[in-house]
Parts: sequence; structure tokens; C-alpha cells
Amino acid sequence: MSPRLSLIERYAAHLPVTARTPRLSLGEGGTPLIRAPSLQAETGVAEVWLKVEGANPTGSFKDRGMVLAVAKAAEDGATLVMCASTGNTAASAAAYAARAGLRCAVVLPAGRVALGKLSQAIAFGASVVAVRGGFDDALRIVRDLAADGGAALVNSVNPFRIEGQKTAAFEICEDLGEAPDALCIPVGNAGNITAYWKGFRESAMAGLASRTPRLLGFQAEGAAPIVRGAVVERPETIATAIRIGNPASWATAIAARDESGGAIEAVTDAEILEAYRLLATCEGVFCEPASAASVAGLRSRARAGGLRGVRVAVCVLTGNGLKDPDTAIRLAPELREVDASTRAVRAALA
Ligand SMILES: *Cc1c(COP(=O)(O)O)cnc(C)c1O
Repeated sequence: MSPRLSLIERYAAHLPVTARTPRLSLGEGGTPLIRAPSLQAETGVAEVWLKVEGANPTGSFKDRGMVLAVAKAAEDGATLVMCASTGNTAASAAAYAARAGLRCAVVLPAGRVALGKLSQAIAFGASVVAVRGGFDDALRIVRDLAADGGAALVNSVNPFRIEGQKTAAFEICEDLGEAPDALCIPVGNAGNITAYWKGFRESAMAGLASRTPRLLGFQAEGAAPIVRGAVVERPETIATAIRIGNPASWATAIAARDESGGAIEAVTDAEILEAYRLLATCEGVFCEPASAASVAGLRSRARAGGLRGVRVAVCVLTGNGLKDPDTAIRLAPELREVDASTRAVRAALA
């Protein structure tokens, strides 16, 4: 058996790679696209699919863009990569930097990063600094630091991140044999919705699809600057990966929305948590809270009659539920502890 091609190799023709670009890989991409029967029954949409990006090597879609951003940084002779992060970008940057033999520095909002993500950045050997502020502050700081030179900035303002991330749209078109009618996606810094729109347009041009989907982006109500049309100074949501008040890719997200005939809407934390629980208990898919915003949005539009003409929908589940064990445990009933006897366990389960 020969190993599957890496993301860079498989999509080289569509990516800005040269013969000198290192063929860096941790096995990213090629993630499952699985059917969601419970959501189909609930929403009346004939086909609902989940793009399970939590199956990427570090547990989020960030790996698709990071593999290319770090490979290009290495190609350019950089020795240090740097990013601001709500957690997943840091985990991914730290892993690919380790793999490529580069140093990695990450700046995080203190006290706002899910435990799994923080443990990854530390385990992969990154220099981690937590700032007393939000993600938007962290991004401003790393942009300043990177402008001094010497470090490659690998946030999604790095165009290679968007290029790598667009490959998810290619995969969806390949797997379905056509573009879906609608793509539901969480929106934080808005790099991913930008990347999907680029990927779907290029899929259509390359003949992988005959058309492009409507992009339906969802922000958390307490962190919905694009929906409101104004920067949110103190964004607040349980979905920490999309807790962003001033998205770097704001303009391209609006373009993706408008050119695709889609929408960007807000979902509440309660709706996000309901979708999060439903995905785990009814579909067997454990994603992180931010990821569930896509499904919360699908359900909310279905209730409001906003899915007319949608026969095939894909929801992007951006990250793995194991990233944020605290949220899962906090929502669960307390764990019961009993004597180590069959009788006691039988009684407890009754
Ligand atoms: C980064 C991230 C998002 C948001 O993606 P943007 O490109 O910032 O809009 C959503 N969910 C998860 C799990 C993420 O890591």
C-alpha cells in the first residue's frame, strides 16, 4: 500500500507551490464527509452532510492552511513563525513548526483558551505568551512584532493560510460530485469563509462542480461584528474559537456572502450548545462549541423557513470536541461514584 498523497502534493496544481517548497505534512486534509440523518429529519433538507475537520492532525481545519504557511516560511528561509490565536491556530502552528524544524511563538488571550489547545501549543514546544486582553489585541501585537522582521506571521492574514484552507471546498465537490446548494460555516476572524468561497469558485472553474453554493456564515450573538456592521469591543461567547470582535478578513467575508447569494447571521450561545449536544448524542460527532455554530445556524434557518431551494447542505465542523473538555464536563450531570460492586453499579445504572 502506498501512503495517501499529502495535501500539498495532492493539490499542488491549485496551490502556490514551487519545486523548492518543502513537502511538509502531518497527514492533514482528506477529512470525512458524513451524512447527518437526525438533522435531515429535523430540517427537512434532503441531504445534510458534516465536514469533520476535527479529524485533522491537530484537531482543527487550521492544519490545512498552516501546512502551507509553514512550508512557505521555511522555503523563504524563516527560522521563526508567530501567531495570535484563540487556541487552534497556536496548536497547528506549533505542530507544523516543530515538524519543519522552525521555532514558534504564540500570543494568546489570557484565560480564554480551551485547555486542549493550550496543552498542544505547550507540548509542541512553542513559546507561549498570554496577554491580558482579547484575541484582537493579540493579533495587533503579533502584527507589530512581525513588522519588525525576522518572523513569519502565520495568522489567516497570511495569504498561504487561505490558499491551504480552500482545499476543503475541493474535497467537498470531489466527494459529492458537485457543489452543495448551501455551506454552513462558523465565522470568527473570517479567514475560513473567505477560503471556502475561493475554493468553490476554483472548483467550478476546474470542472469539479457546475456551480457554486450559497455560503451561510454564523457568528455567535455576543461576537457578531459582521452581522451588526460594527466592531464589537468586548466580544463574549462560550464558543471561544469565534470570540472575535474585529475580523481580519471582514471585507472578503462580505464578498463571499454577497457573491454567493448567502448570508451571515448570529446564533445564540444557547443555540450553539443545543447543536453541540445534538451532534454528539444524535449523530455521534463530538465537535467543539464554535463548530456547532454551523449546525445551530442550519437549524435556526430551517425553523425560519430560510432554506428554500436547499436540497444538499454541508455543515463545516471546524474543530474536535476534545479540544475543550471543560465545556463538555460543565454541561454534563455530575459523575456518580459508587462502590466497586456489580450490585452498586447495577443500581446506579437503573
Ligand atoms: C479558527 C476557528 C474558527 C473560525 O474560523 P475563522 O477563519 O477565524 O473564521 C471556527 N472554529 C474553530 C474550531 C476554529 O479553530
